[in-house]
Amino acid sequence: MLKTALTQTLWDRFHVKPEQASRRQFYLALLSIAQAETARRPRNAGPKKLYYVSAEFLIGKLLSNNLLSLGLYEEAEQFLAGFGHTLAEVEEEEDEPSLGNGGLGRLAACFLDSIAALGLPGDGVGLNYHEGLFRQAIRQRKQCEEPDPWISPASWLLPTGKRFPVAFGSCEVTAVLYDIAVPGCNGGRNALRLFDLETVNEDIIEDGISFDKTDVAHNLTLFLYPDDSDEEGRLLRLYQQYFLVSATAQLILEELRERGFAPEELDRHAVVQINDTHPSLLIPELIRLLGEEGVPLERAAAVVSRSCAYTNHTILAEALEKWPLESIETVAPQLVPVIEALDRLAAQAHPAPEVRIIDEDGLVHMARMDIHYGFRVNGVAALHTEILKKKELRPFYEIYPEKFTNKTNGITFRRWLLCGNRPLAGWIEERIGPDFRKDADALERLLPFRGDEDSLLSLLELKRGAKRRLAERLLESQGAKLDPDAVFDIQAKRLHEYKRQLMNALYAVYLYLEIKEGRRPPRPVTVLFAAKAAPAYTLAKDVIHFILCLSALVERDPAARNWLKIVMVENYNVTKAGWLIPACEISEQISLASQEASGTGNMKFMLNGAVTLGTLDGANVEIAGRVGRENIALFGKSSAEVLRLYEQGAYDPDALLREDPDLARLADFILHGPLLRLGDPDSLFRLYRDLSHKDWFMTLLDLKDYIRAKDGLLRRYEDRLRWARMSLTNIAMAGYFSSDRTIREYDRDIWHLEEARR
Ligand SMILES: *Cc1c(COP(=O)(O)O)cnc(C)c1O
Repeated sequence: MLKTALTQTLWDRFHVKPEQASRRQFYLALLSIAQAETARRPRNAGPKKLYYVSAEFLIGKLLSNNLLSLGLYEEAEQFLAGFGHTLAEVEEEEDEPSLGNGGLGRLAACFLDSIAALGLPGDGVGLNYHEGLFRQAIRQRKQCEEPDPWISPASWLLPTGKRFPVAFGSCEVTAVLYDIAVPGCNGGRNALRLFDLETVNEDIIEDGISFDKTDVAHNLTLFLYPDDSDEEGRLLRLYQQYFLVSATAQLILEELRERGFAPEELDRHAVVQINDTHPSLLIPELIRLLGEEGVPLERAAAVVSRSCAYTNHTILAEALEKWPLESIETVAPQLVPVIEALDRLAAQAHPAPEVRIIDEDGLVHMARMDIHYGFRVNGVAALHTEILKKKELRPFYEIYPEKFTNKTNGITFRRWLLCGNRPLAGWIEERIGPDFRKDADALERLLPFRGDEDSLLSLLELKRGAKRRLAERLLESQGAKLDPDAVFDIQAKRLHEYKRQLMNALYAVYLYLEIKEGRRPPRPVTVLFAAKAAPAYTLAKDVIHFILCLSALVERDPAARNWLKIVMVENYNVTKAGWLIPACEISEQISLASQEASGTGNMKFMLNGAVTLGTLDGANVEIAGRVGRENIALFGKSSAEVLRLYEQGAYDPDALLREDPDLARLADFILHGPLLRLGDPDSLFRLYRDLSHKDWFMTLLDLKDYIRAKDGLLRRYEDRLRWARMSLTNIAMAGYFSSDRTIREYDRDIWHLEEARR
């Protein structure tokens, strides 16, 4: 059936037969077939509909995923093979939409897949950034940012013809709506709805990713997270936020009307999940629009409060947004009286200053508004939710204990196993049959194979194949030469101090010095990093520079380079994640305990048979609980201890370096002469100064325990059967981390979409 359609489409569109068709032509033909197939499916429906509103949707390339959901994957793969192509090669023709930054945006994408898979009526709503976040290029051992355009005439975007006016203080603009259809693997479809600025103009981009930040009538949907290190940049983000929420509120109310419901029935027929605080202004905007329809403010506030739920993703202070009321006055003056009224109303019942929406300095606290005027607030892993209740949001937990709930994150196994690691999926199916494709918990049936030597050996063989494949890809894409027989140790995630890429780099320094002194590891080690740093985050860029200098230093040293290799994978995105994850053996999840809300990278690596080297942070705690201590390598201070250090201001990196010459030797290496000569001394001095005097995320606190744990893991690696058993146990116990489970919990405890249908 696909065969006929594909042959026909190639002929109609390009006048070629399959044997003459190029990869590009195959791609375009498959794209249009997948779109037509999806359009034929009924939209998931019910008396109540979910809107998952998010500034980010890191969806990645869609072709193979959508073909899988449509049940066309196998047929496409077989047909292409007949003409010497693979689906992966054909998919290289697709430009990856970089509509997200990291875990939060990727979570939103996994959720869309699971919501559709479960047949629930729920759409994602976000913005259509033309140049994405940015493309990372490496020059002179530094990160450079470039635009990352992805929209071409042949993208997945479908114009809807819907337009909404958005009024700012200074001007009025028009939001136009595009849809990306989301087919579910059990029939039905939803959509990712992306608003674009009708008058957006890519020509105002100057060199790199800079542009006139004040030109809001032309710039709103150019980039995700424009540089906010100055006032203009901060204001632009607020303009983007209001643009998103105003258009979203109008869409929600329009659909409510179209389905025949009154505005006051909002809570019975719509539920809005506010993903982090970026879309928080949706609450006052909905209340304002209900006011225009004649609903008095208190009643509007009550119905909106029963419709909106908020997900908290972080306890990092810089991410808990606060906007000066003055800025809101500039961007959307019509919201100011609403926000002031909401603040007054909340304060009547709860006057304590720490729960006021508008504080004494005139700052509007977004999360506080979400909690007062939302019916649920959730953390994203058990530990994170506990920290929210006990510390970060404690005053709110005391007022509204019934609103707090935990929803441990998950990942879609369709992308991260079934599409992303076909050989492993096949290996699993040979052993336990196909049930795990629909029901992730069935993976536990693998456990009895822990005692089967043939299975363990073939699992090791599979991993080696994946490593070879990664080596080929990195050779082709960036000229890196990897040895598939080395241990592949991978840290792939956004660059942030709390994630402690620097600690990993300092382990590499330690290993380098050991090798120089004749103490070699049991076998060669390859440390792979993949990470983008926010353009204005100087220290994060300094860490990237240090890693790249270190990599060059080791590479030039004939005594070391056969034993240690450090690789920075350029431009980490969903595609690169898809390359790295199947090939990983040691998964670095080494954030400072208490700081990583959940992590989802940890789950993807585990599912693909990597062993986690991690702290008891975020979902690592739950991973450890499932696989057992013997199948994970844990180290570092506990979150309770770290929180105590913060509270007492008791952490002193200066003192640690003075008292411990081993630590000092590693830190001093940042200023090692030959290293300085390879790089930018200003950057390396800045990094050293920060590490030795501030080290806010306590890299030095855990460094020695980390070295102990990693050395231990490298030794364990040599018992290959034991390693394979650890790997197998991780795969078998990953089922809980399916986003299908997460979404069932959101629906059971927050959305009630299924219940509304009964
Ligand atoms: C999963 C994923 C992330 C999140 O990784 P963490 O380790 O949880 O921070 C970030 N970026 C991409 C491209 C991903 O696929």
